[in-house]
Amino acid sequence: FVHQLADQNVSPEALLVSPFNLQPEPSLPLPLALYGPGRRNSLGVDLACAAEREPLFAAAERTSVPTIAEAGAATVDAAMRSLQAGFDRWDGRPVAERAAVLRRAADALEARMPEFCGLLVREAHKVMADAVPEVREAVDFLRYYAAQAERQLVPQTLPGPTGESNELHLHGRGVFVCISPWNFPLAIFVGQVAAALVAGNAVAAKPAEQTPAVAQRMVELLHECGVPADALQLLHGPGDTVGAALVRDPRCAGVAFTGSTQVAKLIQRSLADKDGPIVPLIAETGGINAMVVDSTALAEQVADAVVQSAFRSTGQRCSALRLLCVHERIADGLLEMLRGAMQELVVGDPVQWITDVGPVIDAEAHENLARQVRRLDAEARLIARTPVPAGLDGRYIAPAAYELKQIADVRQEIFGPVLHVVRWGSGELATAEAVVERINALGYGLTLGVQTRIDGRAQQIARHARVGNVYVNRNMIGAVVGVQPFGGEGLSGTGPKAGGPHYLLRFCSEQTVTVNT
Ligand code: GLU
Repeated sequence: FVHQLADQNVSPEALLVSPFNLQPEPSLPLPLALYGPGRRNSLGVDLACAAEREPLFAAAERTSVPTIAEAGAATVDAAMRSLQAGFDRWDGRPVAERAAVLRRAADALEARMPEFCGLLVREAHKVMADAVPEVREAVDFLRYYAAQAERQLVPQTLPGPTGESNELHLHGRGVFVCISPWNFPLAIFVGQVAAALVAGNAVAAKPAEQTPAVAQRMVELLHECGVPADALQLLHGPGDTVGAALVRDPRCAGVAFTGSTQVAKLIQRSLADKDGPIVPLIAETGGINAMVVDSTALAEQVADAVVQSAFRSTGQRCSALRLLCVHERIADGLLEMLRGAMQELVVGDPVQWITDVGPVIDAEAHENLARQVRRLDAEARLIARTPVPAGLDGRYIAPAAYELKQIADVRQEIFGPVLHVVRWGSGELATAEAVVERINALGYGLTLGVQTRIDGRAQQIARHARVGNVYVNRNMIGAVVGVQPFGGEGLSGTGPKAGGPHYLLRFCSEQTVTVNT
């Protein structure tokens, strides 16, 4: 079409004259999580380059975690009052200014990587090999949402009749409540807060009670970089007191939540019942994530992807692989390989670079996981278990894989280093389609892995799978901001996807201004 117009001597400039507001788009930043300097450990985890390594190690060794007080009811009320007052001023600032604040914060966070890695290791018990990519992901969120805001949040001129102008404006909604989890206490915390802020909202942030110090330092950094105190307040404490008070406050104009499905539903109920406006919920929850492996799959590649997806981050990722569905023709060989790969896992001290699998987050999680492991020991066939070295203190769960008969036997998400395996290829599970149907029937819909060398099969499975992220012939964790927008459906969340082009819009309210000229 353009060539035809050029043949008719239509100038390129003329092509830009349109009733739509065609503006040159600022380019999106290249994600650090993908292009940052890196090395890989035995789980394929991208480590820092040599220059970063020593300072990071030293910081992780010496970082101490401050004790942080919980917010009482009066503090919550005062914070909401101040945010309500600050909202208009922050929302009134040009988008470019809010984006510039995020970019400053990204630079500052990058410069303070050792300190934040230290906190992630000390407070959240992240292994070093996970701490570095997490800081990078947080930096990516800040830069990505800054760039997206400048692309998307500018007023749009719409076509209309002569004598009338029409414009669509996007604003913040008011005070947005952001409730974040302990498993990505920096990246998810920053992702929610940065998106809400750059869209023009004032933010009441409630981090997980297990990881307050990471959030505290990050909020201090955001304030230093230019976010006004009355546009961002941090409220520490448990979800059922502080979180609940924020969500039912009539001044709460939106909620972004990452955590369990059960709590997402509680929030939804509370929002429906509260006084004040009708409030949107952006929820990102868990998943019983499966990988479908057919008989043509490359066994070495599958074993590698399974070990990374199920055991990296000690299995404490909502994207983690929970259910491996392997074709019976290759199952024995593959499980043998998996057994071997699991013996290579290093379970140990999170500060050591060599460690693959660290402790679980706290005593309560340990107790729950230990109970689920005992049930599996009684009800399922153990395929392999990586021993926990003697002398490590109590909060370790040995990475383990169990074989079950049916997909429906996987009753709940086990948020730790535990993998279920089911064979398919005959009976009720004769085809890959039947397998996907059973996976869909679990009701979750976050990530799905497919391993096959048959052309078109992965696309066919992806079309029928009710999940947010499909990974073909690779691992299924570590979605990169702006590259693999992340989030699920069904019991796994409401969407929109974090790190994707539709995320910011859900934090905005829209206003159409029609002027009779
Ligand atoms: N975005 C992370 C990933 O792709 C998971 C986030 C989560 O666990 O909540 O692995």
